[in-house]
Amino acid sequence: VTASPTPVLCDPAAINFCISDGTFLLQRPIQPPGNDMVDRGYAYGSTEQGTRQPHHGVDLYNATGVPVLAAAAGTVFYAGNDLSLRFGPQLDFYGNLIVLAHSLPGRTLYTLYGHLSKLDVTTGMSVQAGEKIGEVGSTGIAIGSHLHFEVRLYPQDYNSTLDPELWLNPELGTGVLAIRLVNHAGVFQSTPLDIQYYPDPNGAFTQSWQPEIYPPEMDQGNNWENALLADLLPGSYRITILWQGAWLSRWVTLETGKLTQTEFILP
Ligand SMILES: [Zn+2]
Repeated sequence: VTASPTPVLCDPAAINFCISDGTFLLQRPIQPPGNDMVDRGYAYGSTEQGTRQPHHGVDLYNATGVPVLAAAAGTVFYAGNDLSLRFGPQLDFYGNLIVLAHSLPGRTLYTLYGHLSKLDVTTGMSVQAGEKIGEVGSTGIAIGSHLHFEVRLYPQDYNSTLDPELWLNPELGTGVLAIRLVNHAGVFQSTPLDIQYYPDPNGAFTQSWQPEIYPPEMDQGNNWENALLADLLPGSYRITILWQGAWLSRWVTLETGKLTQTEFILP
């Protein structure tokens, strides 16, 4: 089984948007009473408005010592620190980390757990889905105690990451929205993006988000999308982008436990 980029699960170009079961093959690496929610402020691909380096994973804010669980069954590719073996842009980036290898239906994927305070597994061990593998901490380059979680195609390739929220089981009662903004040549485009939630499509919107478009350095040919928003309630959403001085809008539908994909081909 070889690594492959994010699959195109349906044809959003043909019908503006499409809904599929997605590839939600991973369980959340933190479970209640820990905080199992992904932080939206520094999402995958975010630079926090240009103030930080592009985020190759997602953060789950939790106190030091909260159990970290295997996102799926697999084997421990690596458990240790990164003082002499590089997994990120520099040594001692992730601190104590674990990388698991997973044979999932049709593909091999790796998950990475960074900044741990404690490791419960050693390289080569087998783990079950949901098994405790370590504890949250702030080792390496971490602002406060949290779990940094990544999904990778290749275990030691920092540029082979995918958005973990395409793989993590959605929070109960929510779905995931993946957006692709490209030109006619299929090259990713960057532009301000606004997403509004309309519980009643004939009423007013009740919430809005402005997710960051992944920066160009994140485009290593692995990602179908260049913007993503997860943990969304089912219903109607209006996506608006500013392109060449004009506002373009599109309505899409979200369903519980499903992936909605929409593609804008920009002139
Ligand atoms: Zn992080």
